[in-house]
Amino acid sequence: MTINENLIGIVGAGTMGAGIGQVCAQAGFETLLYDISQEFIDKGLARIRAFLRRGRERGKLSAEEENRILSRLSTSIKFEDFRGCFLVIEAAPEKMDLKREIFQKLEAICDAEALLATNTSSLSVTAIAGATQHPERILGMHFFNPPPLMALVEIVRGEQTHPVVIEKALDIARRLGKTPVSTKDTPGFIVNRIARPFYNEALRILSDSDADVQTVDRIVKEAGGFPMGPFELMDLIGIDINFAVTQSLYQSYFHDSRFRPNPIQERMVLAGLLGRKTGRGFYTYGKD
Ligand code: NAD
Repeated sequence: MTINENLIGIVGAGTMGAGIGQVCAQAGFETLLYDISQEFIDKGLARIRAFLRRGRERGKLSAEEENRILSRLSTSIKFEDFRGCFLVIEAAPEKMDLKREIFQKLEAICDAEALLATNTSSLSVTAIAGATQHPERILGMHFFNPPPLMALVEIVRGEQTHPVVIEKALDIARRLGKTPVSTKDTPGFIVNRIARPFYNEALRILSDSDADVQTVDRIVKEAGGFPMGPFELMDLIGIDINFAVTQSLYQSYFHDSRFRPNPIQERMVLAGLLGRKTGRGFYTYGKD
C-alpha cells in the first residue's frame, strides 16, 4: 500500500471534525472529510465555507486562497477511502464503544506507518488504543474549539504510544500552525482538568446565588480578563459535550467532588438546549 505523506483523513465532519479539516487544508494538506451520511458532510462543508467567507469579508484571506483551501478538501462516506492517509484524526461522538470500533476499522484499512489520532476530550486514549492490534501508533491529538482559531493542541501519550509517534505528531501539529504540548493520558489531560472547576463553580453560582448568567460571564471577562465567560463557553462547546466530559472526569477520578456534574446541565441536555448548535443554551442565538 502506498502512503500519501500529504493526505490527512478526518473521521466525523461535526463541530470539531470540520474545523480540524479546515486547519489541515489551510496548512496545505489534502484533506479527506468522512461522515456517516452526506447530510452531515454537507453541514460540515457549509460550516467551513461560512468560516472562510467571513475571513475573506474581513480581508484575512483572498478569494484565490479561499478557493485553494476548498480545493484541498475532499469528502467521503466510505471508510475505505482512508487508505493512503499518513494521518487520520478521529472526531466522532464522545462514546468509548464507537471510538474503539472506529480504530479497529482504521487499523484494518490504513498503512502500518500511518498515525491514528483521536480528538477525544475526556476518554482514555489507552482504552481506545486497547481495542487495536497496534496500540503503539495510536495517540490523542486534542484540538480546541474552534480549531481554526485556537492555537493549542494537546498531544496525548497513551500507555503504549511509541515515543516516535509522539515526536511525529508534535511536528505535524507545528506544521498545522499550532502550538502543541505533550501530556500523559490522565483524565481531562491538562486543559479540561483545569477547566472543570471553572464551569462547575459557575453552575453552582447559578443555583446558589443571585448572580445570573450574564453577570457571571461579564465579571469573568471584564474583571478576570478571560476572552469568554463560562456560560458563553459552555454554549460554544455544546452543553451535551460539556456534560459528558464532566461525567467522564467524575467517574475517572473516583467521584472526586471537585468534578461532580451539575443537575442544571443534565436538565438542559434532556430538554435539547445544547447551546449554539441548537440555537438555545444559556443564551438564545439567531441564524448567524
Ligand atoms: P459533533 O456531534 O459536532 O460531531 C460528531 C460528528 O461525528 C457528526 O458529524 C456525526 O455525524 C459524526 N458521526 C456519528 N457517528 C459516526 C461514526 N460512526 N463514524 C464517524 N462519524 C460519526 O461532535 P464534536 O463536538 O465535533 O465532538 C467530536 C469529538 O471531539 C468528541 O470526541 C469530543 O469530545 C471532541 N472535542 C469536542 C470539543 C468541542 O468543543 N465540541 C472540543 C475538543 C474535542
